[in-house]
Amino acid sequence: MLNLRQLHDAFATRFGAPPAFVVRAPGRVNLIGEHTDYNEGFVLPIAIDRATFVAARARVDRTIRVHSAQLDVEDRFSLDRIEHNPDQPWSNYVRGVVKAIRSRDLPLSGADLLIDSQVPLGAGLSSSAALEVAVAYALQLLNDLDLLGEELALLAQGAEQSFVGMQCGIMDQFMAALGRAGHALLLDCRDLSYRPIPIPLRARVVVCDSGVRHSLVASEYNERRAACEQAVQLLRARLPRISALRDVTSAQLEANADLLPPVVHRRARHVVSEIERTLAAAAALERGDLAHFGALMDASHASLRDDYEVSIPELDTLVEIARRLPGCYGSRLTGGGFGGSTVSLVEEGAVDRFAADLVAGYRERLGREAQVLVCTPSEGVSRVAVF
Ligand code: ADP
Ligand code: MG
Repeated sequence: MLNLRQLHDAFATRFGAPPAFVVRAPGRVNLIGEHTDYNEGFVLPIAIDRATFVAARARVDRTIRVHSAQLDVEDRFSLDRIEHNPDQPWSNYVRGVVKAIRSRDLPLSGADLLIDSQVPLGAGLSSSAALEVAVAYALQLLNDLDLLGEELALLAQGAEQSFVGMQCGIMDQFMAALGRAGHALLLDCRDLSYRPIPIPLRARVVVCDSGVRHSLVASEYNERRAACEQAVQLLRARLPRISALRDVTSAQLEANADLLPPVVHRRARHVVSEIERTLAAAAALERGDLAHFGALMDASHASLRDDYEVSIPELDTLVEIARRLPGCYGSRLTGGGFGGSTVSLVEEGAVDRFAADLVAGYRERLGREAQVLVCTPSEGVSRVAVF
């Protein structure tokens, strides 16, 4: 990743003039509450101190030119003709955001955009939302759009859903836009209300990238969503007032399990129990009960593995190794699954040893290289330099 000066110079070389400013939007890691967001439940993520940076400058014509330093690719398109680009999938995250702004009838000029990122792609840390929110924020600054906070997050989510075809929930874009330094956010995905909860300084959030990139994830993800919707439809025969799995308790689900095909029942059981675990975990964090918090993380992983079936052997192995290491409160897969990363909560003093032993253990067991990121909870999107 280039530093700010290098980003400035690379922009000037590529586009023939320096950028007006640079913005950043962070990746995120979810501590607990997985696959609950699109069920109108709760999540408990932090925004991390790894971000996607966008250097930007307005153009006089109606073209968007965008270059990704990581992928070393460039795309350009007209503001008046924004189509899906099958040849450059990455560009659709940008095109989707521009199209979403256009469809709100907001005034928009052309722009040159240079993107660089510290968020690994496809590692479950939401590089996609960081990219969308950073681009949207850069365009809102260039065009004075007053598109901020929750509105910015919703716009970016809509872009990923309609233009990329990923029926994602709101969590990733919400954190990229509204993350809070030093805190996790207990976010209610039904009404977007949230409560910041401080992360005690004696605990560190450790992300471990398995090195397995999720593939086919959109189809699996959309299939899980469909199962949740089916569960709600079927449960309505006896629970007519529910509109999402959020409205169902574990006791109600078990009492009405006969309405559901076995697979749908297991999918729903994950979601309903995960929402209950997330609320319990938030309460434990507020009391400083890290041991209980960690036990809930462990239970979350088991539920994702056995009932929701979104884990893979590499993630299961990382979690098993992590839990046996000194100072580890709990460990689970994080993000959608099928690859990506685990998240562990680890005692501050044990974190260096934990990171080294986790990487070594994974190498020994599976012959693969893992990347560890020790994360600090960070602010949402911001402007970091003006030139
Ligand atoms: P995640 O959000 O977990 O990292 P996704 O599959 O949702 O994984 O999004 C990753 C995709 O987002 C990449 O394959 C790429 O198309 C796009 N993307 C993210 N960051 C960048 C970037 N800095 N440059 C270009 N494309 C990016
Ligand atoms: Mg993503």
